[in-house]
Amino acid sequence: MSGVRNESEMTVIETAGPEETRALGLRFGQKAQPGLVIALSGDLGAGKTVFAKGFAEGLGITTPVTSPTFTLMQIYEGGRIPLCHMDAYRLEEESELEAVGGHEYFGGDGAVLVEWPEMVEGLLPEDTVRIRIERIPEKGGDARRILIKGGTPG
Ligand code: ADP
Ligand code: MG
Repeated sequence: MSGVRNESEMTVIETAGPEETRALGLRFGQKAQPGLVIALSGDLGAGKTVFAKGFAEGLGITTPVTSPTFTLMQIYEGGRIPLCHMDAYRLEEESELEAVGGHEYFGGDGAVLVEWPEMVEGLLPEDTVRIRIERIPEKGGDARRILIKGGTPG
């Protein structure tokens, strides 16, 4: 992990491969408090689910975390606090998340990770931590730039 810098309250981190993105997720998971919501944005294959796997590990969740693209959301108990992992990729409107009670997890007893948050923007709490994962064209391969707003990996 390299290139940590602050750009007016935005933390920018570069990871060289999936292990480092997972390790960053783990650090967030280790210090996550009830009610934490993280909006995870970035293109398909950017590394959002890799981050989520590390986050779950940081909470002490031992169940394997899989992409909830088809299930919309997945709840993991058994960690320090519950984790709700959402993927709004297939949603066409916010009411579809409300229909399955997804919005009730925001501000609840657990932590929530939302992949494709753009789809449910209006439902997210104001203090949602924003994490954006991007490929770095000039570096290519496994390099990723991770922009964090509203929180720090501690
Ligand atoms: P998303 O959920 O954003 O669609 P995934 O996390 O499912 O993406 O997949 C990311 C893919 O990119 C994985 O195959 C992972 O191994 C690979 N990868 C390569 N470099 C990185 C990196 N620096 N961080 C995260 N994932 C990476
Ligand atoms: Mg994913």
